[in-house]
Parts: sequence; structure tokens; C-alpha cells
Amino acid sequence: MQTFVTRQEIIEWRQQLRGDQKQIGFVPTMGALHQGHLALIKRACSENAAVVVSIFVNPKQFNQNADLQAYPRMLEADLALLKGLENLVIFAPNEQEMYPKDLPFSPMPLGRIGQLLEGAHRPGHFEGVVHVVHHLFALVQPKKAYFGQKDFQQLAIIRLLNTFYGFGIDIIGCETVREADGLAMSSRNLRLNAQERQNALAISQALHFVQNYAGKSTVEQIKKDACAIIKQAGLTIEYLEIVDPYTLENCIEWQKEQVCCVAAICGEVRLIDNMLCESVL
Ligand code: AMP
Repeated sequence: MQTFVTRQEIIEWRQQLRGDQKQIGFVPTMGALHQGHLALIKRACSENAAVVVSIFVNPKQFNQNADLQAYPRMLEADLALLKGLENLVIFAPNEQEMYPKDLPFSPMPLGRIGQLLEGAHRPGHFEGVVHVVHHLFALVQPKKAYFGQKDFQQLAIIRLLNTFYGFGIDIIGCETVREADGLAMSSRNLRLNAQERQNALAISQALHFVQNYAGKSTVEQIKKDACAIIKQAGLTIEYLEIVDPYTLENCIEWQKEQVCCVAAICGEVRLIDNMLCESVL
């Protein structure tokens, strides 16, 4: 395992690999790595000759400074977790290295998909995600890049980005990894105290409820009941929507497949989660 902090190190390493005709896999992260990240990284290692994992808490994608400040940073522990994985490069740049002053960037129109759900509640968030992932894709030039379905809307936007800028990378969506009790793994879970950690379970419980009852009552009613589960645990819901998996537009009626997407505040921590729900029509 090698750790690089400059663009130049990545470029030189990549040129060497190109000589050897090796295929690069890429997993972008913000660090505070957990088993969800590790699943992406292990899959990337199994499918590519060499893998880059970036660790960079991207200020541009935080719409609240307090959230950015509170975001966990633990590079030493992250490196320890990845120790022993073969053919792995960690890229942990600072902000100047990630965004050199003279590096131009043409933003991508996010369109309708960027205005829904997270887009509506976190202005500027996806613009920041697109900016950093654009720079990382251009630098790393991977054959395949791995993203979690936990960030369902982000994955849809990354697919758009890939087409818009013509990167031609295989974008691989990976299943959400959960704790044994159902809570979706997230770096933000580290900020929950024991009681909040218990309360946060209501999110996955509500999502399972929607999965179980999809098609058995009206969409409106199921949404209401799911919201009640989350509110009862003391969380504040930002949104709970049942949406089309491709357009992310709200479903009025049940379809064969839909995704229930939730954002809720637990204590001071904003958590998101989603589950695919099939209904027998
Ligand atoms: P983050 O460090 O939160 O920016 O996440 C980096 C990547 O890991 C993103 O593609 C996330 O969707 C993915 N990821 C985060 N949590 C999970 C999880 N619980 N299961 C699977 N993938 C995840």
C-alpha cells in the first residue's frame, strides 16, 4: 500500500501502470472508513490490477460549515484499516492540491434530478460532489469506479457526470452495508451517542415497513405510517419520499419498483438511507 498526497505522485504512478497495461479501479471517499467503504474497496481490489482510494473531506459539498467542522477525520485509523490490501494506493490530498487555483472547471447542469430530495434540502451539495469527482476522475483515469447505493441520488448524478464529461468509466453501484440491527453504516454514525444510535434504528425500520407494505395500501398512507415510525423515535424528518428509481420523481401510485428515500435528523446528525421496494401489482 502506498500513500500519495500530491497530484504529481498519482500521475507518475499512473504512467508507470500504463506502461504495464494495468487497469485502475477507483473508490472516492471522505474517510472515517467503515465496513461499507471496505466492501467497495475489496470489490475494486478483486476486479482491478490496481486500486486508488481517495480520502478527502470535500468542503465544496458541505452546505453547512458546522457539518463540515464536525465531520470525522481519522487518517491514521483509515490507513490501519486498509493495511495489508495489495496493489492499493491511498490518495489523501489537501485542499490546495485537490483544487489548484489555476485548474479550470466547467460545471455540469444537474437538471431535474439535481433539484429533488437532497438537491432540494442541501443547496450546492451536488455541485460540490460533481466538482470533486470530476477532478478525481480526470486525475486517476480509472477503468471502473465504485459508489454505494446508500447515496442513491449521488450514484444517479455520478452516472450523468460520467456521460456529460465523456469519461467512459464503468460506474459500479454497490449495495448498502448495514449494521447487524439494520442501521446503514455511515461515517456520521460516529457522532451519535448511545441513545441516538438506538433511536436512529427507526429509519431502517421505517424503510422495511415500506418494503413490506408496498402495494398493500395507498402510497400516501404508507408514507404517513413510515413517517410516524421515525417521528415516534424522536427524529426530525427532512423528507421521506417514495420515488421512481430512474427519475427520482415522486410516485403517486405503486409501480413494480420504487425507492423509498429518507433524510432525518437524529440528535445533531443528519442521516440518509433508502431501500428499493417492489410491489406486486
Ligand atoms: P463517503 O465517504 O460517505 O463519501 O462515501 C464514500 C463512498 O462509500 C460513497 O460511494 C458511498 O455511497 C459509499 N458508502 C458509504 N456508506 C456506505 C454503506 N453503508 N454501504 C455501501 N456503501 C457506502
